[in-house]
Amino acid sequence: VSTRTQILATTSSGASPDGAKTVVINLDHGDPTMYENFWKQKRAETTVVTPSWYHISYFSDIKNICWFLEPGLMSAITRLHKVVGNAVTEDRHFVVGTGSSQLYQAALYAVSPHNASGPMNVVSAAPFYSSYPLMTDYLKSGLHKWAGDANEFNKQEPYIELVTSPNNPDGFTRQNVVKGDKGILIHDLAYYWPQYTPILVPADYDIMLFTVSKSTGHAGSRIGWALVKDGEIAKKMTTFIEINTIGVSKDSQIRAAKILQAISDSCDHANQTNADTFFDYSYKLMAQRWKQIREAVNKTELFSLPNFPPETCSFSGRNFGQLPAFAWLKCEGEVDDCEKFLRRNKILTRGGKHFGASMKYVRISMLSREHEFKLLTQRLPAITS
Ligand code: PMP
Repeated sequence: VSTRTQILATTSSGASPDGAKTVVINLDHGDPTMYENFWKQKRAETTVVTPSWYHISYFSDIKNICWFLEPGLMSAITRLHKVVGNAVTEDRHFVVGTGSSQLYQAALYAVSPHNASGPMNVVSAAPFYSSYPLMTDYLKSGLHKWAGDANEFNKQEPYIELVTSPNNPDGFTRQNVVKGDKGILIHDLAYYWPQYTPILVPADYDIMLFTVSKSTGHAGSRIGWALVKDGEIAKKMTTFIEINTIGVSKDSQIRAAKILQAISDSCDHANQTNADTFFDYSYKLMAQRWKQIREAVNKTELFSLPNFPPETCSFSGRNFGQLPAFAWLKCEGEVDDCEKFLRRNKILTRGGKHFGASMKYVRISMLSREHEFKLLTQRLPAITS
């Protein structure tokens, strides 16, 4: 942690005259600070004031399976999914979590059999989100164990397959890949929002995970939600969170609800006000950044980026290819360890091995503040082999 803190400190002191060359650019984490300027302009609509006697109780709605879910957050989530058209909410149980990270663990707990002779296999197609193996195994659970790349899984045993779509780290749309009938699917839809991908249909899966971290950029509020078809699974997920943290911060839920409602309001009023909605703003920013990083990469033979075919977004009507939250950059030619190579050039990224992939790849966050992103696009074409 101390090294990371130092690196962050170095990054933020980048205002020195030759900062463009000497400063370390830390794009290892997907910290979504790029939306900060938008929210600064929405102070009036999105500020929450909380008197000290509010939110004292553990309980929010004891009639709900998820008794710590604030009703205001549930209606804000339902409304936003309807406005965007990215997920079915009818006949679903809602479970709120401290980020979708907690819901991932709650879902594993809920779907792994508790009376099996050994832990259940957990797989995801490589390159997979680097936290999955860590979160699956860090407590050395008797319920589940990380079993790696779903493309390689051929055991005749029950399994849980994580489907991340669009995928972290590479941005592609995904379906489940294991051929077998013994699987339980968990869909991580953190990036199924119209600034990152054309919305094609409302997602309609058994267990779907979402988070404000990547949808609105409020990662620090630590709010995620699960839409779950089966009431028993929703109950077990709730039990996990009850044992783990006895619920989820009400202050955070109410803040998240206010922000989600403000986004839906702005989408509803978009035609009258002519102002950019959050999704207009974030889409334009992502499109601009992808244009800039592609231009930077095209100036050199050393790197390449994935390409995405355009499709029409049912929410915005725009025709575009994926604009992922991360650039999955490949070092072409001789370089075998792209993370090390970029680190020598003072760009911190996360190397392919963390994602079950080749070291020729790195994941670079596209969600940083503007000055860091600008430094990246200046530095990449200047690198020599
Ligand atoms: N799933 C994916 C695919 C992610 O990229 C992230 C954040 N990096 C998460 C889950 C975790 O999000 P949260 O901040 O809600 O815990």
